[in-house]
Amino acid sequence: MKSNIMLKELSDQLSGKSIEENLAWLGTRFAGRIVFTTSLGIEDQVITHMIFKNDLDIKVATLDTGRLFPQTYDVLSNTISRYRKKITVHFPEYEAVEKMVSEKGPFSFFESKENRMECCRLRKVVPLNRALDGMECWISGIRADQSDNRNQMNWIEYDEAKKLIKFYPLFNWSFEDVNNFIKENNVPYNSLHDKGYVSIGCEPCTRAVKPGEDFRAGRWWWENDGSKECGCHIN
Ligand code: SF4
Repeated sequence: MKSNIMLKELSDQLSGKSIEENLAWLGTRFAGRIVFTTSLGIEDQVITHMIFKNDLDIKVATLDTGRLFPQTYDVLSNTISRYRKKITVHFPEYEAVEKMVSEKGPFSFFESKENRMECCRLRKVVPLNRALDGMECWISGIRADQSDNRNQMNWIEYDEAKKLIKFYPLFNWSFEDVNNFIKENNVPYNSLHDKGYVSIGCEPCTRAVKPGEDFRAGRWWWENDGSKECGCHIN
């Protein structure tokens, strides 16, 4: 119940304000206990720009799964160079990854949904939980029109499992809004976005999408049975 009261308080406070005003307010409200996790994708680059340009008191963190595209490391490097700010990089626990790859090989995720979720859990969810440790507010670049699953979410939520507030600043933005902001503000972005990749994750599990295909169709494209999520945003 306490969480519902807080959610209402925050929702009232944030409604009708600009994204940058909301980020600044949350940075003060949750000082030292607020984090933005970036995948370095194009939506997240918008939020990173807003946080760094306005020198907001919000920690920025990313997950290095060990299977990212070289172009994604370019974005990380270019972003650090551009803003001269810190992005905390969280790696998986090496013992667990060593065990998985030694026992099942480097492409176990293609063999079953269970294996795929295991890999995502070890390389993403566990490091994410470390990034969220001690936090009370988690900012993410989710947009409603990225998938049916995400369309069911709200722009501000309480994550019962993780016990924190989640805020999605770009929830109501279109992909065109995102692209326009990136161009107008000359924000560094992943060059793969210009080659048909819309949602970019790990290299083996991501492909470009064809015109008319679903936004998340390029993620785990061999799976047809679900929400196309890695487990990070399952409440
Ligand atoms: Fe593993 Fe693929 Fe998930 Fe990356 S996206 S963590 S490589 S299963």
